[in-house]
Amino acid sequence: MKNMVLIGGGHSHAIALRLLGLHPLPNVALTLITDVLDTPYSGMLPGYIGGFYAFSECHIQLRHLARFAQARLVLDRAIGLDLPNKQVICREHAPIAFDWLSIDIGSTPAMAAIPGAVEYAIPAKPVPQFLAAWNHLVASLQSAPENFGDRPLRLGIVGGGAGGVELALTMQTRLRQLFKAGGLSPALVEIHLFHRQFNLMTGYPTSVGKCFHQLLIQRGIHLHLSETVRQIAVISESISDRDSQPLKKIIYCESGLTEICDDIFWVTHAIAPSWLQASGLATDDRGFILVNDTLQSISHPDIFATGDIATAIHHPRPKAGVFAVRQGKPLFENLRSISSGQSPCPFHPQKRHLALIGTGEARAVAAWGRYWLGPSSWLWFWKDWIDRRFMA
Ligand SMILES: Cc1cc2nc3c(=O)[nH]c(=O)nc-3n(C[C@H](O)[C@H](O)[C@H](O)COP(=O)(O)OP(=O)(O)OC[C@H]3O[C@@H](n4cnc5c(N)ncnc54)[C@H](O)[C@@H]3O)c2cc1C
Repeated sequence: MKNMVLIGGGHSHAIALRLLGLHPLPNVALTLITDVLDTPYSGMLPGYIGGFYAFSECHIQLRHLARFAQARLVLDRAIGLDLPNKQVICREHAPIAFDWLSIDIGSTPAMAAIPGAVEYAIPAKPVPQFLAAWNHLVASLQSAPENFGDRPLRLGIVGGGAGGVELALTMQTRLRQLFKAGGLSPALVEIHLFHRQFNLMTGYPTSVGKCFHQLLIQRGIHLHLSETVRQIAVISESISDRDSQPLKKIIYCESGLTEICDDIFWVTHAIAPSWLQASGLATDDRGFILVNDTLQSISHPDIFATGDIATAIHHPRPKAGVFAVRQGKPLFENLRSISSGQSPCPFHPQKRHLALIGTGEARAVAAWGRYWLGPSSWLWFWKDWIDRRFMA
């Protein structure tokens, strides 16, 4: 019996596990190491923030999927690789041996280099911590709206890529609804978006960024473009107006701009955990695993990597869930090939993809290359239909 180990229940692994359940591999013992039992589907995450979806509608239940694939589920966090001995080092469990390994653990926003960011800002990933902070804010508003009544609620979002823009729009919509429901003025909700470049939506054509630029201005979101955040601090208590309120945070930008916020969400460019590079795997300058067209590590062909954590040397793509999803089936096929002694096949991802980006208010914008359409409610219905079909 050979051991095939999957680390992380990301988008590609979710699809591969389903296919492994439908087409079990003979003489292979399968193990899934995951630090969560419910893994989020990125396409519906902003919709969850916007109040359109329940938790269960936008999370994949890994326990069920692992059972279907006849995989042993290890609820733990991988923290290292012992490559000479072909073992995964976990935080709680004894090392787990593998013959073939596949890694789909996503990425996290880079924030360690900014003083105060780790302590006082809330990163968009890991998603469970992010949702805990968001749900806490929503619950406080629902249970005691009077605590928010006489002052603006100011949220800072650092990072004007697709994730940051979508969060700004959906958070604003949801918070305005909650303020209204609590008998408060929705005008008290202030969203401040900070972005290092002048053009929003890095990685998308300028025309798409301009479309969202206009939309954010129409929606009254405060745009701080060409602003590099250099430090986050808490405001000193002598300045803070109310001792009973949680401490406010202050954002310092390189230009000298400062903004005081109640909460700061961090959605900047992604990086990889350091243990991958430390293990001896070949990685790029941000720590992502370098893979060839067959999704195999260029340094260790028994190791596959997909999704955000992988950088395909011949076909680099933005870190987006859509690409992780597309890699699911070829990953399964190549795991099947390698376990039966055959050569894995190359996979060529498409160059352009259709992006359907929610704007809150049950509307979405469609972007294809440099063309875009919307925002409109039928595009939202279309996006909703695609996402629900995927989850089903
Ligand atoms: C706010 C926001 C909105 C976004 N919206 C979209 C969108 O609409 N469309 C889109 O295409 N992309 C979107 N993205 C990007 C998208 O979230 C990622 O590109 C996508 O999730 C990557 O998928 P993945 O399979 O690589 O990993 P993930 O979906 O991040 O899954 C990784 C899994 O591995 C687990 N894990 C992590 N580390 C370990 C470990 N050490 N040990 C064990 N398990 C581990 C995690 O808990 C998680 O379950 C958004 C991102 C953000 C921040």
